[in-house]
Amino acid sequence: MVTGNNKTRMVTNLVTPNKPLVFDEAVCNGCNRCVNICVMDVLYPNPEKGKPPFVLYPDECWYCGCCSMECPLWEKGAIKLKHPMVQRVRWKRKATGEHFRVGMKNPPPPNNRPPVGGWKPKA
Ligand code: SF4
Ligand code: SF4
Repeated sequence: MVTGNNKTRMVTNLVTPNKPLVFDEAVCNGCNRCVNICVMDVLYPNPEKGKPPFVLYPDECWYCGCCSMECPLWEKGAIKLKHPMVQRVRWKRKATGEHFRVGMKNPPPPNNRPPVGGWKPKA
């Protein structure tokens, strides 16, 4: 990315494996509300007016969701927060070893069996 006077160059951390945010260029209007609300200054405004911001420091994202909550076009898909795979809730069926994640089609019901010793904490 080249900014303002064509002398300053900024590049994202190329070795960072995570991609915390995805923008839909067709929906985002480049209002930069997400940029201004970000607690970690992860985002940088796009010098091209009307385009989505750059995720300049993806490895510093807290996944707090402030950016997507602030976006007026969130429901239309302008911005999507993508949690890393290890942070997504899943559960495993012990009998078969199958793994299930939230959002799967027809996931099994949650395990509501009480823990050993019951729900009440020991006095
Ligand atoms: S999730 Fe939070 S830390 Fe990450 S880009 Fe959005 S506002 Fe910034
Ligand atoms: S993602 Fe939403 S808040 Fe961010 S620039 Fe685009 S429209 Fe504005």
